[in-house]
Amino acid sequence: MAIINRRLTAVARVGNIRLGGGHPIVVQSMTNTDTADVAATVAQVAALARAGSELVRVTVNTHEAAAAVPEIASRLQAQGVEVPIIGDFHYNGHILLTEYPGCAKALAKYRINPGNVGAGKRHDENFRRMVEVALENEKPVRIGVNWGSLDQGLLSRLMDENAVRPEPRSAREVTLEAIVISALESAAMAERYGLAHDRIILSAKVSGVQDLIDVYRALASRCDYPLHLGLTEAGMGAKGIVTSTAGLSVLLQEGIGDTIRVSLTPLPNGDRAEEVRVSQQILQSLGIRSFVPQVTACPGCGRTTSTFFQDMADQIQTYLREQMPSWRERYQGVEELKVAVMGCVVNGPGESKHSNIGISLPGTAEEPKAPVFVDGRLLTTLKGPALVCEFIRILDDYVESRYSRCSSEQAPPGLNHVVL
Ligand code: SF4
Repeated sequence: MAIINRRLTAVARVGNIRLGGGHPIVVQSMTNTDTADVAATVAQVAALARAGSELVRVTVNTHEAAAAVPEIASRLQAQGVEVPIIGDFHYNGHILLTEYPGCAKALAKYRINPGNVGAGKRHDENFRRMVEVALENEKPVRIGVNWGSLDQGLLSRLMDENAVRPEPRSAREVTLEAIVISALESAAMAERYGLAHDRIILSAKVSGVQDLIDVYRALASRCDYPLHLGLTEAGMGAKGIVTSTAGLSVLLQEGIGDTIRVSLTPLPNGDRAEEVRVSQQILQSLGIRSFVPQVTACPGCGRTTSTFFQDMADQIQTYLREQMPSWRERYQGVEELKVAVMGCVVNGPGESKHSNIGISLPGTAEEPKAPVFVDGRLLTTLKGPALVCEFIRILDDYVESRYSRCSSEQAPPGLNHVVL
């Protein structure tokens, strides 16, 4: 694991998860079902949890949604899904949390957007009511500022103050400062209303990478609340993944961030759990946490004219991910496993030797055989149509002998391989 000096923070407890204070950075996600549709929401929360989401947020936007929350929580519990559920509130959270005590009780945390709790005197009253419900139910709160719904009164005030300064700052600087102040002033207000310091988590989401970095650096330097990181409205596909990774990686590398979410826009009927896998991959690529064995594969080139190599790399990666729910229970540390699937002899043997297990497939015009390396040493050479099955069998044997909770630590791999 990489050595990164994490920012010192208070420790907040969300259900059975601890946030901040050096605890592992937590992956979270959010459903896109209608929360009032209990069956659909239960199915998606369970799928996100199975993919590795350690917290799942659901929108609580209507009376029907608030009424559905206790049933969602109890069905998940009946299925053995223990992931804490967070309620996302805007505009009417003070009403829903008051009128649906079962909802307030079933949720593990409330997300309050201070820009969406009303204006003026109403703002403070509504905000106070939500904090009171959190106090009654002993729940933590995330004060989640979003620049798309920034408190306009606060922004106007800061813009006016800026205009009379001898050297006014840019509109961008004032806006980012307003985001930070909104989060900090709201947290101070929550504490004045009685919420404990360690029951508060902050976030301040924007959609630009440089803005995100500036806002979170400022927040991190001015408070010790745990921080939830995420780029809001990251977008679709490669754009969403790369933009989120760029912003989050800079901050995580600086030790900033205690929980993360990657807000991808899925294709219609796309897999919502993709955002969980991307979050995990960011943390694993940075060497912060391990979730699933990693497959190193070369990009291929003119030396790999068939698609066999790409198919095999994909099959192995899919196989590893599919095994993880049961492997995680049976094999300690298996998520650290490194597997190489390489396209030809140029870099294949070298890269394979640097992995726990590696295979170097024959490139175009090379002899049709594939050397397999285990812990840096040539174990066998595979060829023929059963090559992928044989490689998976070697992989299974290695995992069983190396990571089994019953076996002695670091036992040499007693491989039951077939040499073809
Ligand atoms: S390992 Fe071989 S096939 Fe893969 S990119 Fe390098 S030269 Fe090309």
